[in-house]
Amino acid sequence: MAERADLVVEGKLIDGREARIFIRDGRIHSIRGPSASSGGSPVYRAPAGTVVGPAFVDIHVHLRGLKLAYKEDERTGTAAAAAGGVGVVVDMPNTRPPLRDPEALALKEESLHRLSLVDYAVWAGIPRDSRYLAVLARHPLVLGFKIYPDDLETPILQAALAEASRLGKIVVLHPEDPSLISECRLGRRGVECRPPRAEVEAIHRLASRATPGLRVHVTHVSVPKALETATSYGFTVDVTPHHLVFNSEDEARGCKFKVNPPLRPRELVEALTTAISRGLVDCVASDHAPHTVEEKSLPSEECPPGIPGLEYAARVLLTLAHRGIISYASVWRFYSTRPAIVAGLEGYGCLSPGCRAALVVVDPDREGVIGRTTRDYSKAGPGAWEGYGYRGEPVALILGSEIIMENGEVHYDAAWKEAMPTTVSRLGRGLQGRSLVS
Ligand SMILES: [Zn+2]
Repeated sequence: MAERADLVVEGKLIDGREARIFIRDGRIHSIRGPSASSGGSPVYRAPAGTVVGPAFVDIHVHLRGLKLAYKEDERTGTAAAAAGGVGVVVDMPNTRPPLRDPEALALKEESLHRLSLVDYAVWAGIPRDSRYLAVLARHPLVLGFKIYPDDLETPILQAALAEASRLGKIVVLHPEDPSLISECRLGRRGVECRPPRAEVEAIHRLASRATPGLRVHVTHVSVPKALETATSYGFTVDVTPHHLVFNSEDEARGCKFKVNPPLRPRELVEALTTAISRGLVDCVASDHAPHTVEEKSLPSEECPPGIPGLEYAARVLLTLAHRGIISYASVWRFYSTRPAIVAGLEGYGCLSPGCRAALVVVDPDREGVIGRTTRDYSKAGPGAWEGYGYRGEPVALILGSEIIMENGEVHYDAAWKEAMPTTVSRLGRGLQGRSLVS
């Protein structure tokens, strides 16, 4: 029987099935065989040789905006996301003003609503005033709290952990013990002054204060010992593409390679790569951290840390899959299914009736070079990734019934017409879906 749909997406799914995905009211309504009638609904046919999967989910990005819009704003950052096949982002709270009070959160929400091209949510910062804890934690845009190194030394942390635990929210730890990175002086390289031990100790410190039942996620883990430590406490972890590809010798190439935690020695990078190839990490997140090209041209001691990555993370993962380091299925596991589960983004990272219609079309064989064959929508440009040769590229992003990106070109009008992007909560409630990949 013919089904009315807002859009029918036809192609080969990541599990190998040929199928037609019927999209209605922003969600996947049904998945049928390739011969199912579209009932006159518009049809998008994925190009030959491509696969269709749930859009990528990036739970650690810095869209900047507000007073840092000169570095990046919610439009340029999410254009980079769309070009990278990312359908939902979770924005970090170290903005100006920081997302630690209701006023700042209201400003951020307005910016995201007005400018974002993809779906979004945020992590709130640990407030300095305990009256804000419950307000922030209950806000529908907030998935949980981000704990920065300095927060480990604030008295309010304990109350924040208790509130998160009580409301079932997640806390995300930037694992660097401030007492072990305080000796970082001008002229010393990151690898010397931000040691792996700082990462491990920060995890122990948080674990010693965590209340039972608290969900802790440790982000941008860069050394295997920290991975083991986090896992031993039952915490989930993510790693970044840059900690898997670059190493501490790259720091000599200038500020583009300055990042916190710093790039690690080659043997630790190899051990981290082995860990991901064995499936010992939960997620990959870009930690997209844009700064202006001028800021990143300063001498290493003066320039700000951070590497842009939203447009490139999927390309890097697909390249690792092409090289046999991870499987193609795990590209979606690490960068779609698991992050959606870990961050509590219900209805994302899945491909079944009831899920958000957030789909990515990937050509696993399309080759290119970052900075040459990419559009580089971020105000930060390709940064450290410039010149990286990849194999595997997101060639379309579908959100709701609109094609937001095709062949690297972001369709701004389509994003607006969709009446999405949306806060995750507005659509997320009641979304149900079973994942295709486990
Ligand atoms: Zn970050």
